[in-house]
Parts: sequence; structure tokens; C-alpha cells
Amino acid sequence: MTRRKYVVGNWKMNGLTAALDEAGAIFAAAEAYPSVDVALCPPFTLVGAMAAAVPGAAVGGQDCHAADSGAFTGSVAAPMLADAGATLVIVGHSERREGFGESDADVRAKAAAALAAGLSVILCVGEPRAVRESGEAIAYVLAQIAGSLPDDADPARLAIAYEPIWAIGTGLVPTVADVADMHGAIRAKLAEQAGAAAAQAMRILYGGSVNGDNAAELLGTGDVDGALVGGASLTAGKFGPIVAAA
Ligand code: PGA
Repeated sequence: MTRRKYVVGNWKMNGLTAALDEAGAIFAAAEAYPSVDVALCPPFTLVGAMAAAVPGAAVGGQDCHAADSGAFTGSVAAPMLADAGATLVIVGHSERREGFGESDADVRAKAAAALAAGLSVILCVGEPRAVRESGEAIAYVLAQIAGSLPDDADPARLAIAYEPIWAIGTGLVPTVADVADMHGAIRAKLAEQAGAAAAQAMRILYGGSVNGDNAAELLGTGDVDGALVGGASLTAGKFGPIVAAA
């Protein structure tokens, strides 16, 4: 089974209206690589404007609530993202799990809500530094998958992003061998939970300090189907080479 490469930019809490021009440049540059799926996840405030400014582009949210509506001040529901023109959403990013206390059960509920709203999901997992150093990284990540993968997810609409927390925004990346081991273990876990066919169809992205210099090696590693990119996704100059490497 050939899985299309998938490169997703996570703008985090960056981007004012003026950044829509850069988004246009990023999607225009990506058109040179039609075999790669490219998406951008800007802050909520830009989702609708970006989707409108770049017709046909895959634009997503960085989080959603598990409920479709209600008294949840400050939150955004998956149907609202879809209504604004989003086609995907990131759930379970470590900055949400750690900074906002999101549990595996929370992440699973968010992923299920997003799928029900018709969105594609990028479900993030990844170990902290102490867990990597203790040698328990694979067990830790597989437990996150066991707890946060929704049942019966459409494999075409669910991707896993493996993002070791110690590699995010630090310039540190795991060895290619460690990435290959982790992605292989995740694929086997997906087969156990979702069945072999679904596991072969689901894409597993790597995230954490991906840039134009290391993208080709990381994306050429076994079971790496793409990248979730933070810092290097804000400009076409930095993001374009990552898409090209895919
Ligand atoms: P980074 O972030 O590329 O800046 O390391 C990745 C992420 O948090 O998704």
C-alpha cells in the first residue's frame, strides 16, 4: 500500500491577517509537488480567512472541543471548524496535553468529535525527555495510542503524529534508527487496535525540529509518511524545502 506523503504546518500561536499572504505563497509553492498532501493549521482566528483566501487548500485547527456546542467559554467545536472551512484538526499536541492537562481520554473524545464532524484528524503522541532517557519511550507512546485512538476511525482521515516532546522547538531530533523503531512500533499497535488494513492505510508523521536540512533523511525513513512542522512552517522559504524533500 502506498501512502501519500503528508506535510502539515502547525503555526501554533503565530499569525495575524498579514500572514495570509505567506500562506498563499506556501500553498502556491506546494503546487509543484502534487504527490504530497500539504496542510496548514493556523490559529482559530485565521482558519476561515485562510480557507477563503486559498480555495481548495487544506486548512485546519490546532485543537477542538469534544462537545459540538455548549457553555465552554473560549473553546471551539469541531463543527465550527468545519463550518469555517477547515478540513482537518490537530488533537493531543503535547502543548495541549502538558499545558492544558489533556488526558488520553480527552484526546480520544476530541478525535471522535472531529471525525464525526467530517474533519480529518492528526492525533499527536510523544514522550518527554525523562521517558526517552529511561528507555521506556516506545511503551509510553503505545500507551498513549491505546488511550487516545478513537474506535473505528476512518483510516483515510486519521493520521498519527509522533512528536518527542524534547525535540519540539529545540533543534534536537532523534536518530533515524530511533524514529524507524518508534514508527514501526506505532504501526504494529495500530494493526492491533484498528486491524491490519487500517494500520497500513493510516499515515504516521514525524514532528519535532523538522527543517529543510533534515527533512529528506527523516521523511525517507521507514514508516515515516510525512511531517508535522512548527517553527519551519511559518514561511514559504522554510516550509517549501520540506515539502520538496517529501
Ligand atoms: P517544531 O514544532 O517543528 O517547531 O519543533 C513541531 C510541533 O510542535 O508540531
